Amino acid sequence: MRLVMLLCGIAAGALLAGCGSSPVGETASPNKSIAMRDPAKMTDADWRQQLTAEQYRVLREKGTERPYTGEFWNTKDEGTYRCAGCGEVLFVSDTKFDSGCGWPSFYQPATTNDITEAHDTTHGMVRTEVMCSKCGGHLGHVFEDGPKPTGLRYCINSASLQFEGKKEEKK
Ligand SMILES: [Zn+2]
Repeated sequence: MRLVMLLCGIAAGALLAGCGSSPVGETASPNKSIAMRDPAKMTDADWRQQLTAEQYRVLREKGTERPYTGEFWNTKDEGTYRCAGCGEVLFVSDTKFDSGCGWPSFYQPATTNDITEAHDTTHGMVRTEVMCSKCGGHLGHVFEDGPKPTGLRYCINSASLQFEGKKEEKK
C-alpha cells in the first residue's frame, strides 16, 4: 500500500514538473511569405519559380515581348502598374498614352526613384534601358519622342507589369 502511494506521489510530481517546465513563447512561428522576400536575395531558381516563363524571359533575361501581344498595350483603365517581379509601383494610368507602338507607353514613371536607367547598345541600336530599381528587373526602354509634358516615351513590356485597377475592391 505504501509503495502504491509513493508511486502515485512520484507520478503527480512528474506531471507538475512537466507543466511547470514547458517552454513559453516557442509556439509562435515567424510569419514567412514569398511575396515579402528581399528581391536582392532571390536566386535565379527563386525567380524561375515565382515568375511565368514570359515574365522570366523579359524581366530577368531582358527579353522583349512581340508588339500588340502583351496584356496591357491597349489598356485604358484607371489604376496602378506595379513591377511583376517585386510589386513596386512603377507607373500610374494618368501618364499612359496611346503611342501606337504595340507596347504599354508612359510619359513618366510614378516616381523617378522606382526606375533605373542604363545605356544599351545591343541589337545594333543605342537605347536607354529602364529597370525596376528595387529588383533590377528589365522593364523596357525610354525614348525621347514622347508627348508633353516630358517628351519621353517609356516603352514597357506588359510582362514586366501587374495592373491594379482603381475600381477593384480591396479584400
Ligand atoms: Zn521590381
